[in-house]
Amino acid sequence: MPCRIAIDGPAGSGKTTVAKLLAKRLGFYYLDTGAMYRIVGLYLKNKNISETAVEKIKEELEKLKIEFFNGTFVVNGKNIDDEIRTPEVGIYASKYASLPVVREYLTKLQREISLHENIVVEGRDIGTVVIPDAEVKIFLTASPEARAKRRFKELREKGVEVEYEEILNEIIIRDKQDSERKIAPLRRADDAIEIDTTNYTLEEVVNEIFEVVRKKCRL
Ligand code: C5P
Repeated sequence: MPCRIAIDGPAGSGKTTVAKLLAKRLGFYYLDTGAMYRIVGLYLKNKNISETAVEKIKEELEKLKIEFFNGTFVVNGKNIDDEIRTPEVGIYASKYASLPVVREYLTKLQREISLHENIVVEGRDIGTVVIPDAEVKIFLTASPEARAKRRFKELREKGVEVEYEEILNEIIIRDKQDSERKIAPLRRADDAIEIDTTNYTLEEVVNEIFEVVRKKCRL
C-alpha cells in the first residue's frame, strides 16, 4: 500500500526540517510545496504581474515549466536555489497563493508528483486538499516567536542578511494571509495529529512522527 505523509503547518513551525529528516530516514521522496509557491511568486513578481491580472497570470503559468527531482526543482531549465528563500519572496508567494488560478495549477502538479507511493509532502493544504486520503497527516504548530527564532537562525546560517523583527513581522503577515484566504486556507485536517513543537527539538518531533508512520504504514 502507498505511504503518503502530509505535513502541514504555519511558516517556521519546523515543517521543512522535519519533513526532510523524516523522508531521509524512511528513504521516501520529499516534496516541498512551499518552494513551488515561492517559485511562482518570484516568477510573477519578476514579470511585474499584478495579483488582479488573472488572465495574464494564466498565460504566464502556461509558459512555466516546473520539474521535480527528488528534493529539488528545475524551473524552465534552470536550477533553483536560495533566491526563493528570502522573506520578501515568502510574502509574494503567499499573496499569489490566494488566487484560484495559481492553486489549481500547483495542486495538479503536486498530485501528479504524489503518485510516487512513498512520499513526504509538506505545505499548508496537503492533508485538507492535495492528498486528503494521505495515510499519515501531521499538523505542526509553535508560537510565533519560536517560529521567528528558528527561521532567523536558519537564514543567518545560510548567510542571508535578515533582522529578527523583520522575520517575526513576516511570519505574522503570512499567518494572517494564509489562514484567512478563501480557498485552501491553512487549517488542520480533522484527522491530522497536531504537534506543538515550541518546546521540542525537531529531532524529537521526527522520532514521534516516525513511530506513527511505522504503525500506520506497517513498516
Ligand atoms: O512553506 P513556505 O513558507 O515556503 O511557503 C511559502 C508560502 O506559500 C506560504 O506562506 C503560503 O502562502 C504558500 N503555500 C500554500 N500552500 C502550500 C504551501 C505553501 O499556500 N501547500
